[in-house]
Amino acid sequence: MMRSKRIALIIAATCVSASLLLSGCNKNNIEASKEFYAMDTQMSIKCTGENSKKAIDKCVDRIYSLESILSVTIDESEVSKINSGKNVKLSSDVKDLLNTSIDISDKTGGAFDIALYPLIECWGFRSGELNIPDNDELEKYLSTCTMSEFEYSKGDDTIQLCNNQGIDFGGIAKGYASDEVVKILKNNGIKSAYMSLGGNVYCLGLKKDNSKWRVGIVNPTAPNDTNSLLGIVSVRDRAVVTSGGYERYLEDEKTGKKYHHILDPSTGYPADNDLISVTIVSENGIMADCLSTACYVMGLEKSIEYWNKYGQIDKFDIILMTKDENVFITKGLDGAFESKINYSIVGD
Ligand code: AMP
Ligand code: MG
Repeated sequence: MMRSKRIALIIAATCVSASLLLSGCNKNNIEASKEFYAMDTQMSIKCTGENSKKAIDKCVDRIYSLESILSVTIDESEVSKINSGKNVKLSSDVKDLLNTSIDISDKTGGAFDIALYPLIECWGFRSGELNIPDNDELEKYLSTCTMSEFEYSKGDDTIQLCNNQGIDFGGIAKGYASDEVVKILKNNGIKSAYMSLGGNVYCLGLKKDNSKWRVGIVNPTAPNDTNSLLGIVSVRDRAVVTSGGYERYLEDEKTGKKYHHILDPSTGYPADNDLISVTIVSENGIMADCLSTACYVMGLEKSIEYWNKYGQIDKFDIILMTKDENVFITKGLDGAFESKINYSIVGD
């Protein structure tokens, strides 16, 4: 049976709701907000500015158009065409996503791999029916379900996958979408906004009272308890993206064992290391999204090593929680993070 916060939200809210709140006479203070369902998850955007309502409508249109290109469940989507083995001329969106996926896959030693899709389907994460692959099946999938087997190089205009290959941008698409939304908001003169695209948060500028946005991070040991947060990070112009096995999983009804949705490409099994939660804080939504997934696969030590190597260049920080409930933050977040749990600051 599939247990998922995101799935539960499908039932709760499939409608689009909009509100326009006029505050005072100052045109720059016009607030608008929208909640809607897209990309298999619940989303919300709120912003302040003269063109706030128009800007949000454009953002929502952009997200729906991205969904129609990237969805693995819409038959006519570009990604579905790619997954059916056709030779496909790539849109600039898919090209951008492929190229970033290749970069991050290379830099993380293959921890991030969008080519796992056939294996993700085999496990039942699309159908919701758990299927634990046996060793022969796993071997078969692992030899083909890797980007290193693709006949595609960065910059190519077309792609054609072989039989048994497929892609899934589930670990990166919402981060990309948040960057696209930020571009639209800025182009429409919006200086203050907050969005959560299925938990992929981006905070633009400052709040109305000129203070930073305070983003609460779910405590994986009590994910439904808003009084028991892992911590709070104060930010402006930053994406805050968390990956954790508690977010979406399939449960074996006989044994009660849970199998979560982030697969370790080296084993084909759900990543199983010392981590239970990874949050990336970055200027860049796409970076935050793919790195939260990748670090969750890499584990504590490799994630810190990765930060030491790329943290400054790629402008991101990490908040990590281990199975034994220790919390670690990288140096750049010193002063921006608060928690009731003791935490250590790491990084060279
Ligand atoms: P996220 O919630 O951003 O961590 O992304 C998890 C989603 O990314 C999963 O639901 C899969 O669709 C996909 N995925 C799972 N494992 C990986 C992986 N190792 N690399 C890239 N994408 C993955
Ligand atoms: Mg991700």
